[in-house]
Amino acid sequence: MPRPADRISAARFFAYSLVAYRIIGGVARARGPTPAGASDAAFSVAARASLEMPPSRPPSRLAIRADLLDFVDDPGFAVDPGPAAVRFLPDGWLLVEEQRIAAALPADQDPGAGWTRLDRRGQLLLPGFIDTHVHAPQLDVIASFGTELLDWLRTYTFPAEQRYADPAVAEAGAERFLDALLASGVTAAAVFPTVHRISAETLFASAQRRGMRLITGKVLMDRNSPDALRDRDVAGAERDCVDLIECWHGRDRLGYAVTPRFAPTSSDDQLALCGRLLRDYAGRAGGLYLQTHLAENRAEVDWVRSLFPQARSYLDVYARHDLLGPRSIFAHGIWLDPADRAALAEAGAQIAFCPSSNLFLGSGLFGWGEADAARVAVTLASDVGGGTSLCPLRTMADAYKAMALRGERLTAWKALYSATRGAARALGLEHEIGHFGAGTMADFTLWHWAHGPVQQRRQDMARNLHERVFAWMLLGDERNLVASHVGGRQMYAS
Ligand SMILES: [Zn+2]
Repeated sequence: MPRPADRISAARFFAYSLVAYRIIGGVARARGPTPAGASDAAFSVAARASLEMPPSRPPSRLAIRADLLDFVDDPGFAVDPGPAAVRFLPDGWLLVEEQRIAAALPADQDPGAGWTRLDRRGQLLLPGFIDTHVHAPQLDVIASFGTELLDWLRTYTFPAEQRYADPAVAEAGAERFLDALLASGVTAAAVFPTVHRISAETLFASAQRRGMRLITGKVLMDRNSPDALRDRDVAGAERDCVDLIECWHGRDRLGYAVTPRFAPTSSDDQLALCGRLLRDYAGRAGGLYLQTHLAENRAEVDWVRSLFPQARSYLDVYARHDLLGPRSIFAHGIWLDPADRAALAEAGAQIAFCPSSNLFLGSGLFGWGEADAARVAVTLASDVGGGTSLCPLRTMADAYKAMALRGERLTAWKALYSATRGAARALGLEHEIGHFGAGTMADFTLWHWAHGPVQQRRQDMARNLHERVFAWMLLGDERNLVASHVGGRQMYAS
């Protein structure tokens, strides 16, 4: 049960959300469905109106007492990487001042007077998780039976995404999705909406109201997809992207990602537009992100080879349009060769490893060891709805199992690092999220070490800290989550 202070905060936030929801919903529902690529000026007005909403405020100085765990640096794959990488402060203090982390202190350094105290002793306090690849509209088709990637897109995903042309559907979907992230312990994400401009706009507006770090951008597709999900021409797609970038990129905690779905659904002209946008906005707020899919499934790789015969490899299709850079996120990257891995490392691009999706769709087993040896940054992602859970604990457990099938072993440290500070580092956001360093935003999550008798027994029997954290990671899920905080504000409580 939430404590009284949590209940007040949660109630206030709920009332605030409801007002914002009504303002935007009222405008959005008055409009009919919007075709792919069409602009939606009325929604932009509503989204701007929501910016004036007063934020609900947590105490200006908050001291939380719990078992603090975060990372100072990459722990590698060692079981005992030592305090230079892992920081564990049992019964420690996390000090939050005006939305930011002021300090992480050991148990014996009481913060003194002047702090509102929150006693969470016996609970695990972690930085908020970062999901580097997830599809908001695919909550509607998560856990759909019986297909591999290309058939799955045709059978389930494309029909579901067509509904997001309707602003009311897009808006309700964005709200539901972000609430679901927070209820899973995820406080920041790189998200695919649909091809509809309104679907990106609603995600930006909903994330902004919550104060969340969110990276998204309208999906680009101009071939090999249904009419209702296809950009009509390059000029129209460019207009939509530019309008969204100008409105949202670098605003509060939002970043724009140029988002070609994957090579087969974009023409060379559209991929050239992606490269142009990245170049044109290179100087704006650190530059745009690029997110797409890469070498997920063998049939897909064969299809790309037939569509782009001039390219050396799947990755080379993107490289030829200058889409490889330090802000590029490539989901999956299962079927790569050493030259591809070298190119990714050289560019500083990251692979978002999506084990739950890879197992569910039978796509293949990602070689983290090979990527690591080539010095490619790897982060962890749910890829819902190909993945079957938004909860990072489930993703990490699946990552362990997928790697075990290749004879590799994923430690709890490497998994947790890659879903927190490692992801922040790969996204160029280490100054803002992913750890308890002073000055970063106070995005954090609280967890029960155990939910139910099986988890409790395993915790009781753990002989050292890695055993304890590993068992928590493998056996836990969103039922272990106590609360999610964004910028110090409690946004979810179980
Ligand atoms: Zn995906």
